[in-house]
Amino acid sequence: MKRLPLLLVTVLLVVFPLWGANSKLLAPGLYQVTSLKGGNVLFYVGSSGVAVVDSGTAPAEGKTVVDEIRSVTDKPILYLFLTHGHPDHVQGACAFPEGTLVVGSQGLDKALLAMEKARQALPARIREQRETVERLRKENAQGILAEEKRLQDLLEEEKEYGQSPIPLPELLVEGRITLSLGDRNVEFLSASPSHTSDSGVVLFPSINALHTGDLVFSGIYPYFDFEGGCDSAGWIAQLKKLQAWSPRLVIPGHGDLGGAEILQAQATLLEELRREVLSARERGLSREEAIKSIRTLPSDKGLRWPEILPRAVDAVYREMDRKTTAP
Ligand SMILES: [Zn+2]
Repeated sequence: MKRLPLLLVTVLLVVFPLWGANSKLLAPGLYQVTSLKGGNVLFYVGSSGVAVVDSGTAPAEGKTVVDEIRSVTDKPILYLFLTHGHPDHVQGACAFPEGTLVVGSQGLDKALLAMEKARQALPARIREQRETVERLRKENAQGILAEEKRLQDLLEEEKEYGQSPIPLPELLVEGRITLSLGDRNVEFLSASPSHTSDSGVVLFPSINALHTGDLVFSGIYPYFDFEGGCDSAGWIAQLKKLQAWSPRLVIPGHGDLGGAEILQAQATLLEELRREVLSARERGLSREEAIKSIRTLPSDKGLRWPEILPRAVDAVYREMDRKTTAP
């Protein structure tokens, strides 16, 4: 086996440590945090600082991300890109140091504001729930177990999120923005409507890599959030745009990393879903009937979370309703 000269190995390790305890080096300067429960979180180290993509599912996960960055570099964390406003991508943001510029797509501020309001309303909800439980206890009424469980869940939620205000984005992007990390750039592109109405993706031009946010679920059924502005037609159009960029490394919002083929796989599944829903509508099926009749898609074999399919059919059916009734 040919061996790398010791000096070269030493230089590589000094410039780019291969991993911290909970992260691995994917490409020069680009690390994936590997110990999180939620989506794929990256950090990218340049000569003047660090950019991070997504923040983990909870304040504790955000702290893990920051600790992991600190185990690799002491350069300042300049940017936190939040790919969209779903809780599993943004709730770690409160753990980032002051001075981190939070960046997202137009509309992200509304989603985060709503989340922050819900967080602030927790004490009042807990008070009310306590009163409900006490009343039922006095009356020896039925249903007490379910109400006690609801109270426990609220208390857990308060323990996890109660002390941690969600920071609002300071830079909202419409279109595309390039930010500097000194010797390398990072780009944020608004990519909405798609998975949500506030989705964006992050490009790393010098290494030809892309973090898609939840525009791609790799090996997993994609999640549909009709209320969050999910738009399957727009989603496919955004994926086609990203394919034209021919990335070598694609990091999905959730699931396994790949190349440009995982963009294509996601577009194919969404096209199949739209075809099935359209066909059901043309046969005169109601939304409920369409949900019952579409049990599988040609390319969904082996995808995890197949239980999402009914929700996906529901969202696409409503999206088509919305478009046919729009002025
Ligand atoms: Zn999402």
